[in-house]
Amino acid sequence: MNILIIDDEQSLHEAYGHIFAKSDNQKMKLVQSLEEDLFGENVSDDVISLLPRANLSYAFQGEEGVALVKQAKDNGQPFQIVFVDYRMPPGIDGKETAMRIRKIDPDVNIVIVSAYADKHIGEILSEAGPAHKLFFVPKPFSSEEISQLANALVSRWEYDALQIKALQQKVLELAESEARATQIANHDFLTGAPNRMYFMRELSIRSQENTNNFSLAILDVDKFKLVNDAFGHITGDDLIKKIYNEITTQMPPNTFIARLGSDEFGLIFHDCGEEKARQNCEKLLSIIKRPIKILDKDIQVSASIGLFVCKSCCDLEPIEKMRMADTALNFAKNNGRNQYAIFDEKLDESTKFRRMVISSVESAIKSGEIANFYQPIVDRDELEIVGFEALLRWNSKEFGPISPGIFIPIIEDSELIYDIGDWVIKNAINDCKNWPNHYVSINFSPKQFRRPNFVEFLCEEANSAGVSFDRIQIEVTETAIFDNIENAQKLLRKLHDLGFKIALDDFGTGYSSLVSVKNFDLDCIKIDKSFVDKIGIEKHSDAIVHSLTNLAKRLGINIVAEGVENEMQCQALRLLGCSHLQGYLFGPAISAHDASLMVLDKMNEIATATNAKAS
Ligand code: C2E
Ligand code: CA
Ligand code: CA
Repeated sequence: MNILIIDDEQSLHEAYGHIFAKSDNQKMKLVQSLEEDLFGENVSDDVISLLPRANLSYAFQGEEGVALVKQAKDNGQPFQIVFVDYRMPPGIDGKETAMRIRKIDPDVNIVIVSAYADKHIGEILSEAGPAHKLFFVPKPFSSEEISQLANALVSRWEYDALQIKALQQKVLELAESEARATQIANHDFLTGAPNRMYFMRELSIRSQENTNNFSLAILDVDKFKLVNDAFGHITGDDLIKKIYNEITTQMPPNTFIARLGSDEFGLIFHDCGEEKARQNCEKLLSIIKRPIKILDKDIQVSASIGLFVCKSCCDLEPIEKMRMADTALNFAKNNGRNQYAIFDEKLDESTKFRRMVISSVESAIKSGEIANFYQPIVDRDELEIVGFEALLRWNSKEFGPISPGIFIPIIEDSELIYDIGDWVIKNAINDCKNWPNHYVSINFSPKQFRRPNFVEFLCEEANSAGVSFDRIQIEVTETAIFDNIENAQKLLRKLHDLGFKIALDDFGTGYSSLVSVKNFDLDCIKIDKSFVDKIGIEKHSDAIVHSLTNLAKRLGINIVAEGVENEMQCQALRLLGCSHLQGYLFGPAISAHDASLMVLDKMNEIATATNAKAS
């Protein structure tokens, strides 16, 4: 134990020396005899050195003592006790000395030794306290008094030191477990990547730096659900881990990469303007497209990326920046996936428009803004109307007419397509009641086509309207068929066997070949307008239509040419063997009421002609 004596009298220095030497000897003797009892003669020096022996330092004046306290503290060997005499002329007195010592060392025990100090106890306590570290011993003192006090103070000092050590250990442990908790809270369990929360914090730090010299990308693995469905979740998880590892190793080292959700990653490219960010996105797309080996299987996926480049003037909130990148991502996905899109204001407008469509389509149906219109389909020989194609029309009060080519793909991305699709079927079948001997051709989106109980629903609607199944034609696209060929084949056969007609829409725009046509129970093929436009102009197109019509004739399939706008097209298509024609030349889509009148007029005409013939 380190003890400091501050007293102006040499004789008192010596007195303290005797007291502590005696006390040390007594302690050593006691321990030595105990050791000898236990272990025999030889007591090791180690044991003796463990005893708290008094290590005394002396000062004659207060200032000198204060300096020693400071020095000991700075050396990491502070005093545990300082005995301070109250009167030490000519220097500062014990009160002042104690006050200065306390400022240097808040832990040291100060013992004021004096016959006069008790008069100033309150004052000294308030300046050099606290009370449990400041003691008063009246002069003259006995050696027992001093050694007992010293022993008690040292034990307490050592006990406190131990407590502090234990506390420090606890603090360390807590800090460690806090660090672990923070790691868990900020990272994704599967990949170990930073999670969305961490990503948002990083984004906000970047944004606060005010330089804004970074780009933000959100990457979404295309059709990841299919991987999960086809290979199981374990493979799906593995794929995500491998993708994360690939992109972390291949992206520039200062890229911050986080897993934002199941198959979504967020990237912050530091010090990165538009050109560099574009290059990074291209690289990401090519990395993800490479086959990834999982359990001996090569799995190949693609990704869509939304990119937002922060320009120096950009003072948007992080959440807004995310929204921009997300908007660009949606655009990339809707534009066919496997690509990146960079955010610009026009994209934002289109997102707002998409949201408007989704949120108002149902009320538009209720208010009558959306309705089924019907475009006539005529036969080749007489150019007489034989049926109508149901085409949706939306006359929005806010935006004016919105083409189904625009709003249908938007609602096809949501569950709304089911309700809208049902509504179209119900109305088309009901309207068709008013056109005896004419059929109605209804467009189906691929999603609708995959719906369970789809056939039952169609039968029920037709039965309750009293319309025979053969007056209802379903227009399916190649995507609907080729998305799930087996299922499509079964479903089409079922419908065909029940008597419904099936048309393959938009022929010539996709990848259907004449061969694939034979594999399905089709009643009709509709040649797309873009193909019709080339008739009489491109020999190649004429040849395809000609062989298609020949094949169709043999298979008993009708061929409808769509988008016929002029006489020349009409005559050419008739010559090439199309069985039916549809287009503005024969009329645009009209309301259900007008379609009924048109049919009624035609029937009256026929009746008049027949009567005239008969009479
Ligand atoms: P689609 O099935 O190929 O329909 C033919 C489109 O060509 C219609 O456009 C029609 O108005 C247009 N058209 C017809 N004749 C001519 C012509 O001579 N010249 C020109 N320039 N265009 C002509 P619309 O009504 O805008 O429909 C676009 C697409 O929206 C449709 O293409 C169809 O895929 C989809 N659609 C419309 N109604 C429905 C529906 O009720 N359900 C589903 N799933 N899709 C629908
Ligand atoms: Ca169609
Ligand atoms: Ca079509």
